[in-house]
Amino acid sequence: MTARVLDGKALAATVRGEVAVRAAARRARGVAPGLAVVLVGDDPASAVYVRSKTRAAQAAGVEVFDHKLPATTTQRELLDLVGRLNEDAAVDGILVQLPLPAHIDADAIVNAIRADKDADGLHPMNLGRLAQGRPGVVACTPKGCMRLLAEGNVDLAGARAVVLGRSILVGRPMALLLTNANATVTVCHSRTRDLEAQVAAADVVVAAIGRPELVRGAWIKPGAAVIDVGMNRVDGKLVGDVEYAAAAARASVITPVPGGVGPMTIACLLDNTVELAALHHPA
Ligand code: NAP
Repeated sequence: MTARVLDGKALAATVRGEVAVRAAARRARGVAPGLAVVLVGDDPASAVYVRSKTRAAQAAGVEVFDHKLPATTTQRELLDLVGRLNEDAAVDGILVQLPLPAHIDADAIVNAIRADKDADGLHPMNLGRLAQGRPGVVACTPKGCMRLLAEGNVDLAGARAVVLGRSILVGRPMALLLTNANATVTVCHSRTRDLEAQVAAADVVVAAIGRPELVRGAWIKPGAAVIDVGMNRVDGKLVGDVEYAAAAARASVITPVPGGVGPMTIACLLDNTVELAALHHPA
């Protein structure tokens, strides 16, 4: 079997197009959806992410409020800014780019963002809602993975899903989304024994560990769906957590790296922003 490749770039363009239509409808009524993007310090990778998010938002008709702060910004100053953005009626979503400089407690900042402005879906209230199976803002990367699985017509009900990684950003919310979609979910991490056996039993594999090609193609159950979240730079090239070619020879559907999950993350951030705008300004 050769897997169908799930084209995240194309799907992200579709999602951004849907966002643009919704944003235009809001603009026509005089309220553009607004996203505040906060970057502290000068981490080059964060600067690149923020630039692509800003560009994508503007292209979709989302108003961007850029806040670039020096690395010397104190926690108090950042909390004050978040407080002001929480009160600003033009701001529907707030994104504070992580990681933050070491002297700032990132949890305290994320917790200070109003849950109904939490564009990244990382606030404990939103993660709690997800755990309860209730509506809330869903973290962008796992939301994108679910959309890719839907695009691949992957039947999740009753499927055995294995999530590799248990971070707040990806693994945990991913496992909750799959559970809510009626999959039977196993979460694996650095202390898991016999990762190969776990993966080999899975109908759906979501790899989010940050280890280049750790998941060998031969581990993949024939016909399984494979979503590769990993983004690892190896010799200047972007490589996923899955040994792509060998896995693609066995899987039914698979996401490439790059061009799979990555573009979907940004598209889902915009999707979250227009959803929050709809919440703040019901039609
Ligand atoms: P993270 O916070 O570092 O979490 C990594 C997880 O993988 C942890 O739960 C860790 O286990 C587990 N792990 C590490 N080594 C392992 C091993 N040898 N076997 C099994 N599990 C192992 O990373 P993250 O933020 O979730 O990101 C994961 C990857 O996704 C990274 O490559 C990141 O760049 C990528 N990513 C991509 C996007 C995108 O848009 N495409 C978005 C976010 C992240 P412990 O909990 O036991 O430490």
